[in-house]
Amino acid sequence: MHPSAPLAHPLDDGSAAVLERSLTATGESLGDDARAWRKLFGPLLRSDKLIPQLLSPMTAGRVLPPPPVDALPALTYFALKGLGSAEGLSRASFEGDRARALFAGMAAHALLPLRQRLTAGFGLTLGLLAHAFGWPFPQGGSQAIVSALSAHLKELGGEIVVGQRVRAMGDLPPARATLFDLTPRQINAIAGDRLPARFRRTYARFRYGPGVFKVDWALDGPIPWKAEECTRAATVHLGGTLDEMTSSEDAVGRGRHSDRPYVLVAQQSLFDPTRAPEGKQTVWAYCHVPGGSTVDMTAAIESQIERFAPGFCDRILGRASMGTQDMERHNSNYIGGDINGGVQDLSQMFRRPSARWVPYSTPAKDIFVCSSSTPPGGGVHGMSGYHAARAALRRAF
Ligand SMILES: Cc1cc2nc3c(=O)[nH]c(=O)nc-3n(C[C@H](O)[C@H](O)[C@H](O)COP(=O)(O)OP(=O)(O)OC[C@H]3O[C@@H](n4cnc5c(N)ncnc54)[C@H](O)[C@@H]3O)c2cc1C
Repeated sequence: MHPSAPLAHPLDDGSAAVLERSLTATGESLGDDARAWRKLFGPLLRSDKLIPQLLSPMTAGRVLPPPPVDALPALTYFALKGLGSAEGLSRASFEGDRARALFAGMAAHALLPLRQRLTAGFGLTLGLLAHAFGWPFPQGGSQAIVSALSAHLKELGGEIVVGQRVRAMGDLPPARATLFDLTPRQINAIAGDRLPARFRRTYARFRYGPGVFKVDWALDGPIPWKAEECTRAATVHLGGTLDEMTSSEDAVGRGRHSDRPYVLVAQQSLFDPTRAPEGKQTVWAYCHVPGGSTVDMTAAIESQIERFAPGFCDRILGRASMGTQDMERHNSNYIGGDINGGVQDLSQMFRRPSARWVPYSTPAKDIFVCSSSTPPGGGVHGMSGYHAARAALRRAF
């Protein structure tokens, strides 16, 4: 389902910057920065070969063919702009608060301080995906993706076993190839005795990032946004200006909690009537917290929403909060609450999950990794699995 706009970012003056599918329409909410937004994203949209390259491993050579020549100008442009910090690129590209905040809110998905190198690349990638494809979501929720994929696998004769924790290789049937949708720490625990000691040490050194604190709400009606435009997008970023988000994400990077955190709000039921009874709404949101945090951020998140939508708290019928430990209990891949399968900084971009030419492989010829701990990192894009499957086909078959 496509909401009418992919993203909105409200500010304290009661207005909002809105990311539309079209560059020109996006400019309409950005005032004097309309041209600057087109100038920044325009060159990225000129090549339809850029996105597959961005969602591939850096050492694509043996898994994918080398980048096509006609993608090189866009790739070079992306590298020049994207390797720096989101804070730097935002300040250098835009004059006003709206465009700066809109860009920084996208870059904050990196779960890194916005002054850190490479965060600009996250802002560019998410903006590019929004302009090129939109930010759609499945009707009925993410379970619909799982149901579609499992139905397809069953049609092909595949079998799925659920509700069984894998603790050792012996828990798995014999196979020519085993692909683990897990992070390095878990692979060491399950298959460590099949891997050389040096490789196990590399996996043990893999770094995990900050976590998320998530709240789900049942509401008596839509969020009463001050800026009406926020009802056009399923995703709303809260956190105020670039300066404010830079400082709140810096705090998380230093192991602290911000009382005005960057908050990612998802309000899909506005567009998908299957998500809530008639007249009611369901909404979830999360903010970033230090990995393993035990602080309850419910009040801080609700007060950020209330700031941009006075009266929000009066609409709450019920809530469920999940801290980092609940997240990890819910999904063992979310180590310390990290939903991206490990820090996505410059050094771990080249060593994700280890510095191998084919990062999906391990020294054991039949063991592969297909999780978000491999390129291109966190997200429901399926590309880690795609590249891991290609690696396994080449090596084990
Ligand atoms: C609230 C929230 C919102 C998000 N929103 C978005 C979004 O809008 N867009 C986006 O692109 N990404 C989003 N993400 C991030 C995205 O969901 C993750 O980055 C992605 O799912 C990670 O994929 P993965 O393949 O590494 O592992 P996962 O999808 O985490 O799958 C790993 C599976 O392995 C299972 N498992 C773990 N250990 C074992 C074991 N020992 N035995 C058996 N099974 C095991 C787990 O239970 C889990 O089912 C969101 C994440 C969260 C939490």
